Amino acid sequence: MKKFSQKLIIFALMLGLTCSLISCGALPKKSASSSSASESTESTALPVPYSEPQAPRAVLDTPVSGASGAANQSQSGSNTSGNSGSRRSNSQPRKIKVCIDPGHYHGASELTGEDLYDYEEAYATLQIGQELARILKEDYGIECYLTRTGDSISINGYTDDQIDQQNIALRGKYAADADLFVSLHTNANGENANGQPQMSQPIAINKPIIIANTNACGSPEVINMCNAIGTNIAKVYNEVGLATVDYFNEADPNNIVNWSESLNDGLNIAGTVCKRVDSSGDFYGVLRGAADVGVPGIIIEHGFHTVPEFRYSAMYGNLLKMLAEADAEGIAEYAGF
Ligand SMILES: [Zn+2]
Repeated sequence: MKKFSQKLIIFALMLGLTCSLISCGALPKKSASSSSASESTESTALPVPYSEPQAPRAVLDTPVSGASGAANQSQSGSNTSGNSGSRRSNSQPRKIKVCIDPGHYHGASELTGEDLYDYEEAYATLQIGQELARILKEDYGIECYLTRTGDSISINGYTDDQIDQQNIALRGKYAADADLFVSLHTNANGENANGQPQMSQPIAINKPIIIANTNACGSPEVINMCNAIGTNIAKVYNEVGLATVDYFNEADPNNIVNWSESLNDGLNIAGTVCKRVDSSGDFYGVLRGAADVGVPGIIIEHGFHTVPEFRYSAMYGNLLKMLAEADAEGIAEYAGF
């Protein structure tokens, strides 16, 4: 870990990165002022150059949702899980096209070492993404396409780190042709969160967190889709013993809470749908990119790869397949199935 930490510090210094929480890769949590710039989504620094550093912010032509307002980091509301039936629509399925974004790219987030089980977020997100696409197409006839189908990602002549470190909004803009942008990730927490080493977090931290962009926050249907996905994922964790809370805190479409470190890193609390914006709009580049092309976009932080049991289940069990099914059912429900 020491060696990893040194590498990370050097990496962060080189790139002038600051870190934010949740980041898809993230940066050192304590690095001060990060917020405005980081592109990450999982919290914190991983022991590898795992970041989605700072792309220059694109100028947003999409106004920030009026719903943003003051920070409200509490998990409001009650447990409304288990009511997925009430969300079902009576109408015929709608034709929608989904842009699926498996986060990162091979080599950007590999974890090797004792008890790390060779977990790689980029591998996990690709497995989930491909299975998600297969289910949507084969089981529901829902049209979808992926931002990457292999280890590498190339968009508009940019590849891998050129995208994630300088032009990450391209991932979201790739959804210009779609009705929905879904970026797939697994989450991380800060070093020493809950008094534990970063990669040795207890199962109690594990939960799905879904971050919605400004366009998504403006659509109750999309937020309800997020509620469905989160509830499905929470059920998976309950089923396989990767959770201490057996429900998802469904969001009120009219009152989406802000992302917070306490939500991300807290123990024994339910996951929920949240937003993260600053004065320029959506905080995360992938979501900003989708907003730039007018598409509702979400990041699904499925669960915490900082939990050893999560890594093991992902790499040696059926967890990734189950998560893909959870996502697919939520999206299909959104489409009216
Ligand atoms: Zn990620």
